[in-house]
Amino acid sequence: MQILEGIAVSPGVAIGEVVVIDNEGFRIPARFVTQDAVAGEILRLDQAIASVSVEIAKNRDKISDRLGEHYGAIFAAHLQMLQDPTLHSAVEAMIREKNHSAEYAVSKTLRGYAKVFQDLDDQYLSERAHDIFDLEKSLLGKLLRRRRESLNNLSTPLIVLAHNLTPSETAKLDPRFVLGFATEIGGPGSHTAIVAKGLEIPAVVGMGQFLTDISGGDVVIVDGDHGQVILNPDEPTLARYRTEVEHHRSQAAEWSVLRDLPAMTTDGTEIQLGANIEFPHEVATCLERGADLIGLYRTEFLYLGTDDEPTEEDHYVAYTHVIKTMNPRPVVIRTLDLGADKMGQLPLHEEESNPFLGVRSIRLSLRNLDLFRIQLRAALRASALGKVRIMFPMITTLDELRQAKMLLIDTMEDLNEDQIEFDENVEVGMMVEVPAAVMMLDKLLREVDFISIGTNDLIQYCLAVDRSNSALANLYRASDPAVLRLIQTTLNLANAAKVPVNLCGDMSTTPRYIPLLLGLGLRSMSLPPSAIPEIKQVCRSFNIKQCGEIAKRAMLLDSAREVDTFLTQEIRQVMPDLAP
Ligand code: PEP
Ligand code: MG
Repeated sequence: MQILEGIAVSPGVAIGEVVVIDNEGFRIPARFVTQDAVAGEILRLDQAIASVSVEIAKNRDKISDRLGEHYGAIFAAHLQMLQDPTLHSAVEAMIREKNHSAEYAVSKTLRGYAKVFQDLDDQYLSERAHDIFDLEKSLLGKLLRRRRESLNNLSTPLIVLAHNLTPSETAKLDPRFVLGFATEIGGPGSHTAIVAKGLEIPAVVGMGQFLTDISGGDVVIVDGDHGQVILNPDEPTLARYRTEVEHHRSQAAEWSVLRDLPAMTTDGTEIQLGANIEFPHEVATCLERGADLIGLYRTEFLYLGTDDEPTEEDHYVAYTHVIKTMNPRPVVIRTLDLGADKMGQLPLHEEESNPFLGVRSIRLSLRNLDLFRIQLRAALRASALGKVRIMFPMITTLDELRQAKMLLIDTMEDLNEDQIEFDENVEVGMMVEVPAAVMMLDKLLREVDFISIGTNDLIQYCLAVDRSNSALANLYRASDPAVLRLIQTTLNLANAAKVPVNLCGDMSTTPRYIPLLLGLGLRSMSLPPSAIPEIKQVCRSFNIKQCGEIAKRAMLLDSAREVDTFLTQEIRQVMPDLAP
């Protein structure tokens, strides 16, 4: 058994056999074959070795001719390794004695060798591990015919372990077959993490290199509550985690009784709890969990996972489903937040070296007016069907807001000319997720009907920490006093101006932050539907005066660490059973 640490990004526990996707997206296959198949597997192994040997020999000769024997020797060494009788007998023994598949035996044996090299102190020798991975890849290529694995075709429930999953790959995962996942890279605020939460798939990211220790078919536990992955767990650990899985199930059942109760503090202050969605089909879960509205519809996910640009009708059909299902509850349609880690296949702009600081979000929409107009037309048409609000993401300057609003007005005029119905009084708002917007908020507030604080980006832009970088996860904290001051200023200004303010970043999924946020004056939040019941329970356990005192004390502290410790103590006093 081996316990590995990562970053918990989507709660819950999953136990199961793994499918390992290497960093080129290839699947390391299942583990066992029947006794009858053993001879066939050994034959496949021999054929793969023979075929890879021929390829390596050709490369050796080609390179020797062009660059000289010295360079050809690199391939000669590969060939020698591949034809080493000890290696062959080790792989063959795994197939013969343990009934392992040829792929599994190759992968397990070669990864075992690679690990020995990697663990050596000598840098030259430890880098030889790459040569062994190369050999593994070539052999698996022959054995598997190198079909790139599609994770959306799984037919049995598995745990996915991968070097990385992009937001669009994650969006395509089917929660019936993907019990949980863990990745080597990725940070706490990445959109991969957000999609995992939306799909309610337990997930851990930023594990660092760990795929070398594991092969397809091994059993693992993904602990999305504590950010751990347990490889080949022993019986007592398995038993403990099975109880955890049961606990999650019974808690979900317990929370379902909260659905129709208001998110009201003990002194009777009503808190609005909306849901964040990425896909139209999620609305059913939003209603099940008692969402008061869709507070954030991330429409850019219509672009992810497709190679074609969505048409006005594609947008309209998606919005219609959401609006009709939620009616009479409002739906906040956020205009496209493409770019950074949420770029689909479309070549909308040049490659950038700093995509989070680049042509992202409203900047991208304002540079691709045809694309923006298509979306605005669809959103306005859909506004005739229910209560729709339109929200612009990542507004940094007044000019951007004004340009976006101008385009909206233009689109309204076009619809009027075409005699197409829409809500003339559709409310227009903006996200506050760039510190510049907080600094200019008094002016911005005069030009919007509502605002929503996007803490996921506000944290990264305030602290200069890439939200998807696991190496900086420790700095990426909502509880950093600088972030808290930005939130406080935003709430003070919006409340004074009587402009409705919501918070739709992931900060509000963490129970210990709720009393603080309520104490700072927040009355409306939007979160992944799975988090609504727990957060509602927190709101129903505090009174506003208490929250005010907690906020006052928290705002005096010097560091994120101090704030987190203080808030954990406070919530434990009121809700001792809750994981803070
Ligand atoms: C945010 O930045 O907090 C937010 C809600 O938007 P996204 O996570 O989609 O960037
Ligand atoms: Mg954002």
